[in-house]
Amino acid sequence: MSDLYYVLDASAFINGFEPKSDFNITVSEITDEVKDLKSRLILNQAIDDGKIIIQEAQKEFLDKLDETIAKSGDDLRLSGPDKKLLAVALALLDEGKEIKVLTDDYSMQNVLKILDIPYESIITEGIKGVYNWKKTCEGCKKEYPADYPFDDCEICGSKVFKRRIKTY
Ligand SMILES: [Zn+2]
Repeated sequence: MSDLYYVLDASAFINGFEPKSDFNITVSEITDEVKDLKSRLILNQAIDDGKIIIQEAQKEFLDKLDETIAKSGDDLRLSGPDKKLLAVALALLDEGKEIKVLTDDYSMQNVLKILDIPYESIITEGIKGVYNWKKTCEGCKKEYPADYPFDDCEICGSKVFKRRIKTY
């Protein structure tokens, strides 16, 4: 476990976040965005266990965020919860904490770049590891590379399906 503060947006939970630090922060509005039942159960459990800490955005940092966005001149589409999450990230940085925002949301990542806040994507870089796609035959379990062009197995003729595998 590291001292890094992870600031999590809804996509982090939906894409299977697993705590790697003692400090996992989000805002309550984000938890409302997690609609999928399984992700929601995992999230609620993590909150109950104290693994996820809910913080409120402070007006000071929401204002600072609005200012920066206005200055950048980019057309940044941010939801209310996203803004609150970014304000929480700014507050943590202001406290001198080392943070990383976990998000798979492209507009969020754009804003994070502009704000110079470190971030990581769950799916591509992966707090859970690196994933690759492979194809596997559901009959004989033969594995094929992701670019295997056929829907059926060359050995047994069963259906070949694509799945995500963790490489490390
Ligand atoms: Zn087969």
